[in-house]
Amino acid sequence: MISVSAVDKFFGPLHVLKDINLSVPRGQVLVVLGPSGSGKSTLCRAINRLEPINSGSIEVDGQPLPSEGKELARLRSDVGMVFQQFNLFAHKTIVENVMLGPIKVRRLPKEEARTLAMSLLERVGIANQSEKYPAQLSGGQQQRVAIARALAMKPKVMLFDEPTSALDPEMVQEVLDVMTDLAKEGMTMLVVTHEMGFARKAAHRVVFMADGEVVEDSTPEEFFTKPKSDRAKDFLGKIL
Ligand code: ADP
Ligand code: MG
Repeated sequence: MISVSAVDKFFGPLHVLKDINLSVPRGQVLVVLGPSGSGKSTLCRAINRLEPINSGSIEVDGQPLPSEGKELARLRSDVGMVFQQFNLFAHKTIVENVMLGPIKVRRLPKEEARTLAMSLLERVGIANQSEKYPAQLSGGQQQRVAIARALAMKPKVMLFDEPTSALDPEMVQEVLDVMTDLAKEGMTMLVVTHEMGFARKAAHRVVFMADGEVVEDSTPEEFFTKPKSDRAKDFLGKIL
């Protein structure tokens, strides 16, 4: 469903993605781990084409990434993205935040969009907050709205870039629970996270990145019990 081949990316002289190869089969969860600055966010942004790459290729559902126009809009709805910062529209209610994409991009009639939004808010456990504004919700609730908003586009894959890093500790689990449910329902997911419990339980594969390279690509079992590289051992030593 996601295929990244020989991808290189530079920011000026800085080589931030170095010959990256990875793939996520349909229905699988890939967790990407690695120290800050290793290129994890850049990789996510490249898959959504928020960042152009310098060489290599990326395919989503067998299609190379389009560079512009209608095709790019379609890619963006096929690839749902959830960031550390939820970026909800502050002056719109929760349900309106979720309805917006379906109305604007998928051209759904308003009432249909509302029905869809309410069912997704139900799914992430906050239907009862639908008429509130983002600032009236906790961080964990806002992040669940952001997940519902991404799902409203009927994505084929979901990318999560440190979705719980900005949350107070007591709110982390409610967001991870929603992600775990999504994974169980068969969503194809690429998840950048420092939540090792989630990685162990939900990941089909773990990719460890450092300095712009994929250093390890293994099962969670292998990675957590016998990491091969010194860099991974060092990382795990610091985080566990
Ligand atoms: P991670 O998400 O693993 O912390 P990033 O992908 O954010 O890593 O960053 C990888 C490297 O690219 C870092 O050295 C970072 O400073 C650099 N970088 C990220 N975005 C930009 C940008 N827009 N311009 C220049 N350098 C950037
Ligand atoms: Mg990052």
